[in-house]
Amino acid sequence: MVKKVLKFGGTSVGSIERIQHVANIIKKEHELGNKIIAVVSAMSGQTNELIKLSKSISKNFNKREFDVLLSSGEQVACALLAGALINLNLNAKSWLNWQIPILTDGEHSNARIINVNVGKINEFIKDGVAIVPGFQGISENGDITTIGRGGSDATAVAFAKIFQADSCEIYTDVDGVYSSDPNKIPVAKKIDKISYDEMLELSSVGAKVMQSSAVQTAMMYNIPLEVKSTFTDRKGTKIFDQESIDYTKSVTGVAYSKDDAKITLTGVEDKPGVAAKIFEPLYREQINVDMVIQNISSDNKTTDITFTIKRDEVIKTKDILENNKNIVYKDLSYTDKVSKVSIVGAGMVSTPGITFKMFKGLADEKINILAISTSEIKLSVIINEENTLNAVKKLHTIFDLD
Ligand code: ADP
Ligand code: ASP
Ligand code: MG
Repeated sequence: MVKKVLKFGGTSVGSIERIQHVANIIKKEHELGNKIIAVVSAMSGQTNELIKLSKSISKNFNKREFDVLLSSGEQVACALLAGALINLNLNAKSWLNWQIPILTDGEHSNARIINVNVGKINEFIKDGVAIVPGFQGISENGDITTIGRGGSDATAVAFAKIFQADSCEIYTDVDGVYSSDPNKIPVAKKIDKISYDEMLELSSVGAKVMQSSAVQTAMMYNIPLEVKSTFTDRKGTKIFDQESIDYTKSVTGVAYSKDDAKITLTGVEDKPGVAAKIFEPLYREQINVDMVIQNISSDNKTTDITFTIKRDEVIKTKDILENNKNIVYKDLSYTDKVSKVSIVGAGMVSTPGITFKMFKGLADEKINILAISTSEIKLSVIINEENTLNAVKKLHTIFDLD
């Protein structure tokens, strides 16, 4: 008997017809003799809708109540799916996060699953189907928590690990991981197999098909994942340890995100300790700085520093810099009309000239590069937002991914 964790994303349960369709998928799996735990997201659009409701009460909506509110989306989808299965004469049951319980650590909206009680569910799946809510849990002191957007992926991986499942299948609205977002780049190709490292880089630079912390956990515990379509029978993408993958291409995928912003300080004194003075107060306020560029000073006295941060922290960052008397500069400018475009590939390590090729490709499209960052298997650039799709298409073509 095989134990499976099946995760169904928002679009997969986005309507009553789709929920009934998912129930049929589960029924087939169950009839094959598999033990099934289904992790379910809120119906598509629902979480955004709930966020909107909270904002109409207050921009500063109470954090505890925000998680209570957001967790309700999954409750609805779970109950509907369990009801649909029962209607198909299956023994099915849904649980709320605290009934299981799914224990979490860390702050509201950004908690982390640390343990799940396996007792009731293991007992139930001997002959029934367990339906559990993604994206949430309960803290040590009994408060409902959520684990970050796209977090049902992380719930699925945590369940696969804790229940020692034989497989963890991520059902979604595309039939696997593609070389770029197939909804934006129609020539993108499906990737049959991808390493954890590459998937992690792709997710963290914007490929939302898998949430990055879910990939990280899967990598840490060596849990193979399969991303596949709820709506077609086509083979999906396997995500696993990289040893078993053959790299024929230097670049595996191109991703982009629009959640960065860029700040430039001009006329900053060019002497030791100045950069530290700028970044220390940001660090104290938990603001994550991504890329940093410092120009060589032309007059040996002052220089410019440009850096990028998350878009929703730009005003806070600007306020910190403007109100800190220790930070001296001539001018501060910022823009959030930027995007980050990245190429990812384990094959990059052994291929020379990737950086040149990327820059040349963007230059040919007359796209200006505002900031650059690299890691062993990833190269990211910040560009003006209006050039995003153009840049992604160009890179997709020149790295032979079309
Ligand atoms: P779910 O609701 O099932 O969790 P998501 O919307 O979170 O689904 O993720 C699936 C979406 O990810 C796809 O519809 C697609 O637009 C987007 N996506 C972005 N990059 C990629 C990629 N490289 N491969 C596949 N899908 C991608
Ligand atoms: N419903 C949550 C969200 O929209 C979790 C998820 O879909 O994975 O972020
Ligand atoms: Mg998702």
